[in-house]
Amino acid sequence: MASHPPFLLQNTLTGKLEPLEPQDSNFLRMYSCGPTVYSYAHIGNFRTFITSDLIVRTARAIGWDVRYVSNITDVGHLTEDDVADAGGEDKMAKALKSKEGEQFANVYDLARYYADALNLDWQILNLLEPDVRPRATEHITQQIEAIEKLIEKGHAYETADAVYFDVGSFKEYGKLSGNREANQLEESVRDIVVDPNKRDSRDFALWKKDDKHLMQWYSPFGRGFPGWHIECSVMSMQYLGEHFDLHGGGEDLIFPHHECEIAQSEGLTGKPFADMWVHTRFLQVEGAKMSKSKGNFFTVRDLTGPESKGGRNINPFAVRLALISGQYRKPYNFTFKTLSDCIQNVERFQAVEKVAEEGLKNGDDAPDTLGDALDSCYERTLHAMLDDLNTPLAISAALEGSKLITKQETLSKASAEKVKAWLDKTNALLGLFKYDNGYNPATATTEDTLSTKVEHLLEARQAARNARDYARADEIRDELDQMGIEVKDTPNGPTWKKKAKI
Ligand code: AMP
Ligand code: ZN
Repeated sequence: MASHPPFLLQNTLTGKLEPLEPQDSNFLRMYSCGPTVYSYAHIGNFRTFITSDLIVRTARAIGWDVRYVSNITDVGHLTEDDVADAGGEDKMAKALKSKEGEQFANVYDLARYYADALNLDWQILNLLEPDVRPRATEHITQQIEAIEKLIEKGHAYETADAVYFDVGSFKEYGKLSGNREANQLEESVRDIVVDPNKRDSRDFALWKKDDKHLMQWYSPFGRGFPGWHIECSVMSMQYLGEHFDLHGGGEDLIFPHHECEIAQSEGLTGKPFADMWVHTRFLQVEGAKMSKSKGNFFTVRDLTGPESKGGRNINPFAVRLALISGQYRKPYNFTFKTLSDCIQNVERFQAVEKVAEEGLKNGDDAPDTLGDALDSCYERTLHAMLDDLNTPLAISAALEGSKLITKQETLSKASAEKVKAWLDKTNALLGLFKYDNGYNPATATTEDTLSTKVEHLLEARQAARNARDYARADEIRDELDQMGIEVKDTPNGPTWKKKAKI
């Protein structure tokens, strides 16, 4: 591997731009907080996930191996999550009770559905698959063991309602966020559930005793469920070791989630947890915080999905390009104007690929004239990425390369080979115009097959009823029944859900 500048990233823990230096040289171990699967992930979530994807890609481009772990949260993430000891309802349980939740047999079914949807969106935006994608509900035993150990070490205590982390026992609490309090907002304005037996309002739950909770497990502390923060401590250390190189997530996680992860993990091991903490600033859409009521809330499928399903059928690579058009640590305003420029730029790369293929097939034997200029473009792209993922600069150097090529009328075989090599390297780094994560749109199922099929059958049943063909309508109902779907007719039309198997 040719020499390259250090890989600089802004470390939230020190507040400085620092070289990323894996403990095992050339082998990066990183963890990135994944989604809570109570709904479809939105494009803001994906801005954060793509930051991790770009770190993995850049590390590989300089010849490092990477072990990349990103979790799925499917229990314990409560609605009041800007407070260390979150209150409110479990996001999963709340989703099950909503209108969208009606189609699911139970909360596990809902989690599976949205985790599958997440995987598909992840692939469609050409993010690399993590080496491990652990789920909180599949690591309950490990979380219980960690909590027992924290109690043993004097970092946690039990009350009638819960087991809490004792913040006073960990002197460095606050070292990531600067916040040593329980809450960033005035407690008086919040409706926070208070346990009178909590020693300190900053203490946060590791285990909540609750035999009414939809997802509950037996533990030495009674039936209940784990707090949200403990899952990431346990799963990151299980797959990456007690002390690893990099931990990432969106800026809202600095406090409380990551602050609490540090307290738990370092309390457990007595060692430093992650060396580098990388946080992505929030995405806004058309100048405002995304919100359904403002009409500026978009999931990946809202933008890339087919029009027949309410999508806008936009090239997924253009969405990816738009999401990285601003550097991860600056606030970013996603606009449809940028998106339309991105569509053109992605098409430009895709056209260059065709020119290269044509040159490889039919080009003449003239010597190469492009290789040196393209090498310089790639070097500038890579160096921009090594400089704290400066994606705007990296993209402009890549676009410069594509313009050099489109200026040519035809390519010799030798130049076409150079173009092909440059395209592959640039794509491996930015993932911008060709799938390299194993996803194949030609063979992939992009539809959520069960619900599509059910919706079609319900439409056919309605059409049969309108035509007073009740025999056909009953037949369709039987078919749905055999598929395990229960249909309920309401004044607003039919609703359906999968029948519970237990
Ligand atoms: P959640 O599913 O809420 O646990 O969020 C998954 C990830 O997306 C976390 O790292 C969040 O910090 C991040 N995130 C949530 N909203 C945004 C946003 N608007 N822009 C960027 N990242 C976000
Ligand atoms: Zn996490």
